Parts: sequence; structure tokens; C-alpha cells
Amino acid sequence: MRYDVIVVGAGPAGSTTARECAARGLSVILLDRAEFPRDKPCGGAVTVRALDLLPFDITPVVERAISSVHFTTRQSKGFTRRSSEDLVFLTQRSKLDAYLVERAVEAGVELREGFQVKVVERHKTHVVVGNGGHLVEGTTLVAADGANGTTAKLAGISVQVRQHIALEGNITPPSGVPDRWQDIIGLDVGGMEGGYGWIFPKGDHVNIGLGGWKHVGSTLRERLDGLVRYYGLDPKEVWGLRGHHLPMRRRGSTLADGNVLLVGDAAGLVDPVTDEGIHSAIWSGRAAAGHLAEYVAGEVVDLAAYGREVERDLAPDLVASRQFHDLLHLSPTLYLWVERRTSIIWRLTCRILRGEQTYAAVMGKHTFIAFVIGFVSDLISVTPVLRRMAGLRDASPPERFFRRRRSVGAARPSLGQGSELSDR
Ligand SMILES: Cc1cc2nc3c(=O)[nH]c(=O)nc-3n(C[C@H](O)[C@H](O)[C@H](O)COP(=O)(O)OP(=O)(O)OC[C@H]3O[C@@H](n4cnc5c(N)ncnc54)[C@H](O)[C@@H]3O)c2cc1C
Repeated sequence: MRYDVIVVGAGPAGSTTARECAARGLSVILLDRAEFPRDKPCGGAVTVRALDLLPFDITPVVERAISSVHFTTRQSKGFTRRSSEDLVFLTQRSKLDAYLVERAVEAGVELREGFQVKVVERHKTHVVVGNGGHLVEGTTLVAADGANGTTAKLAGISVQVRQHIALEGNITPPSGVPDRWQDIIGLDVGGMEGGYGWIFPKGDHVNIGLGGWKHVGSTLRERLDGLVRYYGLDPKEVWGLRGHHLPMRRRGSTLADGNVLLVGDAAGLVDPVTDEGIHSAIWSGRAAAGHLAEYVAGEVVDLAAYGREVERDLAPDLVASRQFHDLLHLSPTLYLWVERRTSIIWRLTCRILRGEQTYAAVMGKHTFIAFVIGFVSDLISVTPVLRRMAGLRDASPPERFFRRRRSVGAARPSLGQGSELSDR
């Protein structure tokens, strides 16, 4: 049988793509190497803006609703910010992802678990994937296999990303989640190059983690122990310790090629400021389905319009987020000073997490501020001393002010070409 759509990877990006395609009447097979429920390294924070993209309620898998954040700088000087509305819902990925997969199966998707894609053959009219034993044939292929996914590469598509890396674990205090963390999350800023530390309360345990630029990877275990102790808990009690990459797309990285497209982490759609990836995973899955349906119906000759939609409606937000991120990490102390003394950043953060505002819209509305932020971000890209101050090791092409023609070309590889910018 030839399926209309083969989706590789059943995380939020894959299950959303599959469900939305099935809802449009396409025949879909969803492949995952794991058996569900399966876990995935993640804080399990689902923002209101992500939830709003789903046509159903996820209450059955939500363990806490959060409207407040306790900020600290390098494990000291704490202050709390509260919102009158929920900002994020905390879940466990083993539960959330299984729930999303169930909704896809209900919509008519065929799920095949324990199927690790190792081979991709591309033909003009179809694609064949295999796990070394069985083959599956489809008209289109969706790479939804996450941060370390290989499907795009097997299909001859080069993805250019900058990588964050994060490590997280859980602690189940014998007397339950401490009172102070019942309905609030903790964020520790300024101690991690490019990232932050967190404590998230779940049903009967807390999740503690931290992350930053890829080069901090070897120090994460030691730093996590320090953070656990700072939150008054014992590092020896940590269970389920796991680390993973968080890929952030570089300008121009391929999103679609012929009858293949990339969604979620496989496309590098993580938000640089928050390291939130579930929102983009669901967003891209929804966007992909419409273009896959058009392609299968013979209305378009390739899936390029999906790439254009992401470039138009999502990528500017990720670029603006990266610029905010660069500024924040150039001077976390200044950021926290403003966060503490004024409500400007907090109000903005709440509106972004709730989907009432986007980074790009803020930049569009305040053009002078956007100019300054863009300029500083570009200055960081081209100035080694500022890059070091911002915790960055790898040079990234500036977005606007210092961009040279050559760097644009280098960031737009064609099918199958390697790239000097590739981090994967
Ligand atoms: C420590 C950490 C904390 C995070 N915290 C948050 C958070 O709190 N909130 C948030 O929004 N984001 C968070 N993120 C990011 C978020 O986890 C990801 O962005 C999100 O999971 C991306 O979803 P996805 O569907 O693209 O990929 P994934 O969820 O990674 O799913 C990919 C799937 O593909 C399957 N797969 C891989 N290779 C193959 C293959 N060859 N064949 C078949 N199947 C394959 C895997 O088994 C997996 O099920 C965090 C990330 C990390 C590392």
C-alpha cells in the first residue's frame, strides 16, 4: 500500500502533522522507534499559546497550572512575579505524547511503534522508508524525528542549527512537592551561558534542570547538583536524569524539498529565549498538513509553500527571539534588574506565553527598540569579545547590519550539500 503521508517520529510535531492530515482525509502512517507511552527529556511545560493550537483539551494529562515565576540570579537574589492568568501547564512527556498520539489514532492515523527508520529512498513520485527489515511506501515524507533525527539527512537534506543542550532530572520528596513550589515555577538566570536553570512542580515530584549553549554540556551534571542543592534538595535523590539537544534553526535552513518536509525539532524550531519547542512543533505540524493535502491532491508540484509559510509566519518570531536572547545573555544582571524594577518585561513575557503577542510583533511595533536590539545582536555576532560575554562560542552570521552577500549564500544550501555552518 502507498500511504499519502509517512510521518517519522510521534512527538508533538509528528502526531499533530499526522492527526491534521488524517482529518483532511489523507491516509497516514505514523512511525516511531519507541513504544508509547515513552518518555522524552523535557521540562514538560506547555504554554497557553501551544495549547491554543490544539482542537482538544489536555486537562487529563496536566499536573499543575502555573501563573507565577520565582526568578533568581546565579542562585541568589530572588523575587517573584505573578500573573492573574495561567501561563503554562506542567505535564510529563510520557503522558502528553501518548495522549497526542491517541488523538491522532482516533482521527484515523495508522501507528507503527518500534519502527526505527534507517533507510530513506526518494523517487520522483514517492518515498520509501525502511527499518532494515520492513519497507513503507508513501507519496510524501515528514521528518518529525526530533533534535537528533536522521530522516532529513537520509533524505539528502542538510539542516543548519545552533544547539542548546539541557539536562534534567526529577526528585520525589517523601512529604510531596514542597509548599513553596505548589503553583509556581523557579527560573535561575545568569549562571548558564545561553540558558537558565529551572524547577517545575509536577503531580508528586519536582523536575529540576538546566541548559545552555552546546559547549556547556560537560559541566551540566555538576551544575545540576549545585542547583538541586540550592533548591534545598539532595542530588542523590535525583531520578530519571536525561540530557538532550535543543536545535535552533539558522537563517535559510531547509524546511521542505520536493515531497519531503521537516517539522518541530527536526527543522530546528526551538524558541531561543525560552527553549520552548512544543509550541513550534504543534504549529509546524498544523501548517504542514495543509500543504501535504494540496500536494497529494495534485494542486502543487512540491511542498515549497510550506517552507514559505514557516519563513513568513514563524521564522521572524524565532529570529526576534534570538535577538532578545542575545541581549539577555550579554547582561543577565541588567535584564533581571529591569524585570524586577519594572513590569515591562514581565507583562510582555505573559502576553507571549499566552499567545497574545509575538516577539516579532513587538519588534514591528517599536521600531527604534527593534533597531537597537537587532544592532546589538548583530554586533555580538561579529565581535569576539561580545560573543564571549554573551556566552557564545560559535560565530553565527549576523541577521542584518553586518551581513555580507557571501554569508547569505552559505546559509542557503541546496539539497544534499553539506554546509560549513552545520552543527548536527
Ligand atoms: C531538557 C529539555 C527540557 C525541555 N523543556 C521544554 C519545555 O518545558 N517546554 C517546551 O515547550 N519544550 C521543551 N523542550 C523542547 C521540547 O522537548 C522539544 O522541542 C519537543 O519535544 C519537539 O517535539 P518534536 O515532536 O519535534 O520531537 P520529539 O518530541 O523529540 O519527538 C521525536 C520522536 O521521533 C522518534 N524518532 C527519532 N528518530 C527516529 C527514527 N529514526 N525512526 C522513528 N522514530 C524516530 C523519537 O522516538 C520521538 O518519539 C525541552 C527540551 C529539553 C532537551
